[in-house]
This record gives sequence, C-alpha cells and structure tokens, in this order.
Amino acid sequence: MPASPCIFCKIAHGEIPARTVYRDDEVVAFHDVSPQAPVHILVIPVRHIVGMSALGPDDTGLAGRLVQVANEVAREAGIVANGFRLVVNDGADGGQSVPHLHFHVLGGRQLGWPPG
Ligand code: AMP
Repeated sequence: MPASPCIFCKIAHGEIPARTVYRDDEVVAFHDVSPQAPVHILVIPVRHIVGMSALGPDDTGLAGRLVQVANEVAREAGIVANGFRLVVNDGADGGQSVPHLHFHVLGGRQLGWPPG
C-alpha cells in the first residue's frame, strides 16, 4: 500500500520530525511549525480523520481524549491560569489548510476576538 501523503499522518507515525509534547496510541500533540501565539500546540488523532465534521457517532471517546490531551498540554505549557483557546478550523470557509483533524491550543498572550 502506498504511504499516506498526509503530513499529519506522517507526524503521527513518526515519519517526519515534529516537536512532539504528547503521544499515545490514539493521540499526538506537537508544536505548530508557524506559531500564532507564544504557545501554539496541535492535538491530532493518530487515525486519519479529515476534519471535525467527519467525526462519527463511534468517535465520541476519541473526541473526548483530544479535548483531555488539549487540557493536559495547556497545563504543561503553563497557560491554564491566564486562559487559553482551543480552535478547530473545519473545511474551506473554516480556514482549514491541513485535511487531518487537529485542535489548536493557543495561549501565552491576550487573544483577539472575533477571529478573522
Ligand atoms: P489549519 O489551517 O487549521 O488547517 O492549521 C494547520 C496548521 O498546521 C497551521 O497552523 C500550520 O502552521 C501547521 N502545520 C503545517 N505543517 C506543519 C508541520 N509539519 N509541523 C507542525 N505544524 C504544521
């Protein structure tokens, strides 16, 4: 079978390097290569899921794990006390550029609202 062309699948399977901060069989978290805040970590499922809207009824456990790991990495990064943001861009209008589900954990500065 040909290797997946998905860049986040490659990171999830350790085929290309990333600054990984968390890894288990289901979930991987790593620093965003182009950080938009002092802390910018991406939390992804190991399994290739195109985006949040592609989560199915059997994925509620995985969705919960992604949120739990987002909280853990935010705590580890020291941004929970002052507050942080969890962002999921979905599809073209949502601004998603990598078609593998990922949660952005952003913090370490005052974040603007509304987003662009
Ligand atoms: P989105 O626009 O919501 O799909 O977010 C994709 C994110 O992935 C962007 O913030 C990119 O900077 C980030 N990104 C793309 N390639 C890599 C990579 N190889 N390692 C870490 N982050 C990446």
